[in-house]
Amino acid sequence: MKYQKPKGTRDLFGKELKRIESLCSSARDFFARYGYEEIRTPTFEHADLFIRSIGAHTDIVEKENYTFEIDKRTLMLRPEGTASTLRALIENRVPLPARLLYIGAMFRKEKPQKGRFREFIQVGTELIGEGAPFYDAEMIFQGKKFMDFLQARQIRVELNSIGCPECRADFKKTLRAYLEEFENAICADCKRRLDKNFLRIFDCKNARCQEIYDSAPKITDSLCEDCNAHYHQVKSFLKVFDVEFHENKKLVRGLDYYTRTVFEFKHGSLGSQDTILAGGRYDILMKELGGQDTPALGWAMGVDRLLIAMPDELPPIQDPKRFFIAVMGETYLNQGLELRNTILEHNFVCIIGNPCENIKKQFKDANRQKAEYVIVYGENEAEQGIYTVKNMTTGVQELIARDNFPAFLKGVK
Ligand SMILES: [Zn+2]
Ligand SMILES: [Zn+2]
Repeated sequence: MKYQKPKGTRDLFGKELKRIESLCSSARDFFARYGYEEIRTPTFEHADLFIRSIGAHTDIVEKENYTFEIDKRTLMLRPEGTASTLRALIENRVPLPARLLYIGAMFRKEKPQKGRFREFIQVGTELIGEGAPFYDAEMIFQGKKFMDFLQARQIRVELNSIGCPECRADFKKTLRAYLEEFENAICADCKRRLDKNFLRIFDCKNARCQEIYDSAPKITDSLCEDCNAHYHQVKSFLKVFDVEFHENKKLVRGLDYYTRTVFEFKHGSLGSQDTILAGGRYDILMKELGGQDTPALGWAMGVDRLLIAMPDELPPIQDPKRFFIAVMGETYLNQGLELRNTILEHNFVCIIGNPCENIKKQFKDANRQKAEYVIVYGENEAEQGIYTVKNMTTGVQELIARDNFPAFLKGVK
């Protein structure tokens, strides 16, 4: 084979593409009813935007990005949706508070594995301009409602608070003091993280590291008064919303911009790649990107992973029935086209054959097109005002008067 798709990418067609499209349009309709408006930003941005927001020392910026240079500016394929959305809000002076939904492809040069692609599709919502804990709870509630709507079972909601820069500064000292005696036991990645984005150590996949962190102090227990009160209110609102959640003090996010509330929705069937939806609050990001000091929060959901996790749980795709019209000669083409319009108006698929071919050839074509009904229309049918309709599944052929045809279509399921 001469050309193959790049590693970690996919060709989407047929059923898989339909499932993705159906999930995305469900999300669009669902969140529109909660007041979210869709936004589409470019697939690539100036690299600085992502470096500034995600953090220079995160995996994404250090090794997983696709960057390229055009006109002496470094551009990056977007690795996530939040930075672009905020950039767009600031640049277009969108009035706040704003509820936004985005859907689109993101790019990260990760090791491809089950449920993880280098070009992947995310759906995300952002609520910009609200800082009260009520909104954190409501946003988690909406995510959970969407999972319920998709009939996704086995969803576990995990919650934590990682505080503000102020409580983090104090906690950093506490954690460092504790880890002194384990300096040689933790992995090289964690040692590096301790200097840069230190909360990330809790995210380490190394079992020995996790053992040490199990008994290490946690940021959640060192929150400043305001952050602590905020976290408690989020939890009590979640109870009002009747969302079952599990506190996970080791839950941190891989991006630097998060503050206070962080959450993840996990699905039992995915093993280590079990996170389907993740998000939190990022109160410092708008200012960081040159906007007003504005609280904000949001989440993103991996569409591909969601579909892999739930092959049978999502509502099945209903394919419309397929018709094929075999017009016997150019003379009857106009009436054939009219017939096709009638069929299309009833929301069926309809393919028209080449009227210059004989009936045998057209039936062959109909089979290749997986037609469920073939309608023959030629001299005989035109004279008698009928259609010859063959049900390709049962093999039954019947003559239907043109006037009765709409009634026949209504009966097709
Ligand atoms: Zn704080
Ligand atoms: Zn480690």
